[in-house]
Amino acid sequence: MAPVSLRQIRKSYHELSVIHGIDLEIADGEFIVFVGPSGCGKSTLLRMIAGLEEITGGDLTIDGVRANDQSPVERGVAMVFQSYALYPHMTVRDNMAFGLKMAKADRTLIAQRVAEAARILHLERYLDRRPSALSGGQRQRVAIGRAIVRHPKVFLFDEPLSNLDAALRVNTRLEIARLHRDLGNTMIYVTHDQVEAMTLADRIVVLNGGRVEQVGTPAELYERPANRFVASFIGSPA
Ligand code: ADP
Ligand code: MG
Repeated sequence: MAPVSLRQIRKSYHELSVIHGIDLEIADGEFIVFVGPSGCGKSTLLRMIAGLEEITGGDLTIDGVRANDQSPVERGVAMVFQSYALYPHMTVRDNMAFGLKMAKADRTLIAQRVAEAARILHLERYLDRRPSALSGGQRQRVAIGRAIVRHPKVFLFDEPLSNLDAALRVNTRLEIARLHRDLGNTMIYVTHDQVEAMTLADRIVVLNGGRVEQVGTPAELYERPANRFVASFIGSPA
């Protein structure tokens, strides 16, 4: 669990500036959702927080420590990728253990962490199966399990439901909400879907063209959108 602070965070690819100076204070245990249209910079911002993309300006602080130059492990963050990122030739157990094995974690610790993640995600019965023998929802739970075993301070999700059909999307969304209630970690979640944002978020950050249009609770954005862009995106009557 950890607060996350963004001060004047910027990103440019060579001459092209795509994130133009974002300030945001995320509280310990908060569920924050970044929403906005395709290409507005959601993934870039998340990947900078994840340590997967270099930060070209500003300061990122996680749990009180400047994180700009830290590795993802040092930052204590774990990213949940879409379920197709599972290794098809490995069992569920080995998929969940993979990151810890690469980090040279102790075998007993790995076994404990995988058992714990399987219990949290109700995957105990599936540990010896391969991803191809699982439903889409179960696969996505394995993808979440790969983050849980790392005991991250902060969970990061980039459109984790976009690969699932409508019914599974609802189930998995409820599962992620339950996970947040049970674990209490800070979570940062990217989506272009306003229903996901409105139902999951403590606070929503509306992004447009690499800038923040508005930050607020779902009710605040719905009742008092700062401008037409936010109103149309959130679908409020204003
Ligand atoms: P979103 O996730 O909101 O759809 P992205 O963060 O993927 O948006 O992209 C934001 C902007 O940055 C887009 O204009 C995109 O074309 C650009 N961009 C993303 N990655 C790269 C890259 N590796 N090189 C150059 N431009 C990039
Ligand atoms: Mg994206």
